[in-house]
Amino acid sequence: MATTTASMILNRFWDGRLPIDPIQLAVSAGATVIGDPALEREGLSGMFHYDESGRPVIRFNPFEQPTRQRFTIAHELGHMLLNHVVPGERALRDPKAAYSSGYDQPREMQANQFAAQLLMPEAVVRSMARYGVSGRLDNFADEFQVSTTAMGYRLKNLGIY
Ligand SMILES: [Zn+2]
Repeated sequence: MATTTASMILNRFWDGRLPIDPIQLAVSAGATVIGDPALEREGLSGMFHYDESGRPVIRFNPFEQPTRQRFTIAHELGHMLLNHVVPGERALRDPKAAYSSGYDQPREMQANQFAAQLLMPEAVVRSMARYGVSGRLDNFADEFQVSTTAMGYRLKNLGIY
């Protein structure tokens, strides 16, 4: 479900270039995306909520690693498109530790699956594993502009490594 939703967004809005730009996709999907320094003080990586007018807002921590910021934005877009919050409900807040393994709330897992497919689409990863990129994890992570940790999980989950 999460993966299918990410694929639909890619089909509609992705220009076909790597690395995939999660801000462009989020804006195309109707979100406002804000790098919010206040999140650092609260120990958060990201947040998703609807504003008073019912418009979706994605906030991310601009002090974290760029690869982490990209994953956060994709993760928050997942919360939005998977309807994890409805207008009028409290904001969904993602603490910095939230993506580590063992954090297994269903909504968080779904948002992570969404983000993985959005930033590292299965078909692209598989074709690059076959032709494009030599087999080092750093090379893959660099092509997709994700952390080596995120790339490692992705390759493992797809049964490539
Ligand atoms: Zn989350």
